[in-house]
Amino acid sequence: MKKIAILGSTGSIGTQTLEIVRENTDLEVVGLAAGSNVELLEKQVREFRPRLVSLQSEKFCKELKLRLADMEVEIVSGMEGLIQIAEMEESEVLITAIVGMIGIQPTIAAICKGKDIALANKETLVTAGHIIMPLAAQKGVSILPVDSEHSAIFQSMQGENRAQVSKLLITASGGPFRGKTKADLENVQLEDALKHPNWAMGNKITIDSATLVNKGLEVMEAKWLFHVDFDQIQVVVHPQSIIHSMVEYVDGGIIAQLGMPDMKLPIQYALFYPNRRPMAGKRVDFYELGSITFERPDIETFTGLKLALRAAREGGSMPTVFNAANEEAVRLFLQRKIRFLQIPEIIEMCMQAHKRIENPEVKAILAAEQETYELIRAKF
Ligand code: NDP
Repeated sequence: MKKIAILGSTGSIGTQTLEIVRENTDLEVVGLAAGSNVELLEKQVREFRPRLVSLQSEKFCKELKLRLADMEVEIVSGMEGLIQIAEMEESEVLITAIVGMIGIQPTIAAICKGKDIALANKETLVTAGHIIMPLAAQKGVSILPVDSEHSAIFQSMQGENRAQVSKLLITASGGPFRGKTKADLENVQLEDALKHPNWAMGNKITIDSATLVNKGLEVMEAKWLFHVDFDQIQVVVHPQSIIHSMVEYVDGGIIAQLGMPDMKLPIQYALFYPNRRPMAGKRVDFYELGSITFERPDIETFTGLKLALRAAREGGSMPTVFNAANEEAVRLFLQRKIRFLQIPEIIEMCMQAHKRIENPEVKAILAAEQETYELIRAKF
């Protein structure tokens, strides 16, 4: 029996992880954390019977306690609650399926307690990869990628000598606005940005896919996960999302992982690595598919990706500022307070205002995050 805890159990990755638990009787859920979806968390507790659960605030906790008065479950809240779930004595793997930099502290806490991490929460590695990866190595824990591109790279590296990797090729669908000009993007609406052509995901990452910021975050995530230089990472637009990413080796040979766009495969791969398990669902039919295509990303129109690559190269605290500015700008866009094209504008403004810090500690990362939020909140 493998015991797992999930941060973000009510979200897109969280609920798909629980589907895998349903399909595999040798997985046991011991802890669940969610934000505000009390109703779904109640259902999850009744079905999976974890010992400990956490919600974002005391108010939601009270509501859950009332609903679960007939059950034996401990209910906690806030950052302390997330850390308690991350550190649970009985859990072996923590699935980080929460959105944003809020994942940094619980991820560090879990690593310190020797838990393996199935990592979906890319913002954590983007901003604190320089702390998390060495810590994981020191504690002997595995950071197993859940993001489909990183899982594809990881799968394409099995049995290979990592020192012989020459390039990572990260594929991108191009999002709902592929082929559009800046003028076309001037008046796009929230509903258009939320219509991803191939993947069903949470709102934040769906907007990040529309701006191509998500690809920039993935480049930074890949650098930390696979210990490569940015020059060794190339983004390739592949609209059909069948090749999930590729690895080129020193002899020019390229190994790719293909499959239908379904997050359950990378989640399950991370949970059972190095084993594969049967999984129901549609398979790639090459006769039906006919052809697959590739393009260069348009970083002059989708400046979010250009800025991400700049933040990545500058390093230090700049990826934190890039990420925090994006989180806040996306929040504003989801509330219809800004236009789509203002997302990269806000990111650029924050990056320009920031004095970069080399090798920031967690405290400095969180301070840079707050400063970025305050700068934006003062203007919008
Ligand atoms: P969702 O928005 O669907 O889910 C986010 C989860 O985090 C929800 O369970 C939410 O709870 C919870 N949450 C939010 N705020 C808090 C808080 N303050 N305290 C505790 N829990 C909180 O996101 P996704 O599942 O789409 O994404 C999760 C992560 O995985 C992101 O980092 C994303 O980039 C990454 N990822 C996602 C993919 C996908 O297919 N969805 C693919 C690859 C990576 P509630 O709903 O109860 O408020």
